[in-house]
Amino acid sequence: MEAQVNREKDIMEALTAIAAGDTGNDLYLQYQPILDLKTDSICGFEALARLNTAKLGLVGPDEFIPITEKTKLIIPLGEQIIYSALRFLKRLREHGYNNCCVSINISAIQLLSSDFTGRLLEIVGEMQADPGNIVIELTESVFIADIDRINGILRKLRQTGFCITIDDFGTGYSSLARQKDLNVDCLKIDRHFIDKLARTDINKAITGDIIAMAHRLGRCAVAEGVEYKKQLSYLKAHNCDKVQGYLISKPLDEEDALEFLKKRRPNETDNIKY
Ligand code: C2E
Ligand code: CA
Ligand code: CA
Repeated sequence: MEAQVNREKDIMEALTAIAAGDTGNDLYLQYQPILDLKTDSICGFEALARLNTAKLGLVGPDEFIPITEKTKLIIPLGEQIIYSALRFLKRLREHGYNNCCVSINISAIQLLSSDFTGRLLEIVGEMQADPGNIVIELTESVFIADIDRINGILRKLRQTGFCITIDDFGTGYSSLARQKDLNVDCLKIDRHFIDKLARTDINKAITGDIIAMAHRLGRCAVAEGVEYKKQLSYLKAHNCDKVQGYLISKPLDEEDALEFLKKRRPNETDNIKY
């Protein structure tokens, strides 16, 4: 327990230094490609935060993001993350990938901080980014908080052109009764429902019903954690719109992500042997 407390303290110190701008690239992003199944092309990347310091080594976001939330450091660090993601978006445009989007994970604390939308729009303006190429991912748990207030914020973001995705969909919180009232564009089906496709009797899977429900609500369906060809075939057969997972690619450093786009050929996933 003492070791854990010390580690948390070390992570907090590292994050505080980064928030103050004292370090170089200790906090950085990797980008995981998202494949559009209708066009068989990469339609975007999800930005995933990484912490790597000389003292701590590589620390995953599942460990350090909760610490940033607890300490409210997510506000300044979240801004750094948005800047980095938009720099990458700019590079995509410079390489001619004008329709490629970047998805950014936003914590409830960020979304509910004072004037999140205003600040986001300032950064977007400064970086000359098009909100139409920016996806905001919010975990389903965001919706336990004041739903009307959140929905108001989301309405404004959508009116400005941003695309909103509910992340980890199906793991709880956002009740089905309220689904149709939410100002969101896509549902990203939680990995749990994708794992099931590889592990249990596929005829009993409800993943296809979740996709159908997303469509019925007028939303696009995204599957994450796709690792096997079997899962991909099921998702294609059930009209899933987009997929993401190790089968397509692991999260990549910026340069590798650009290389990945250059090298990718149409129908590549059809040729993967699993
Ligand atoms: P998430 O948003 O659900 O991100 C997907 C996670 O699944 C990522 O873990 C990704 O590396 C992993 N993943 C992708 N494909 C596969 C696959 O085929 N199989 C398996 N087993 N895993 C796969 P990661 O990068 O460790 O991120 C964990 C969580 O940390 C994210 O879950 C997200 O909730 C949070 N996070 C990451 N970056 C940020 C950020 O910039 N801001 C905030 N607020 N949260 C972040
Ligand atoms: Ca996400
Ligand atoms: Ca997720």
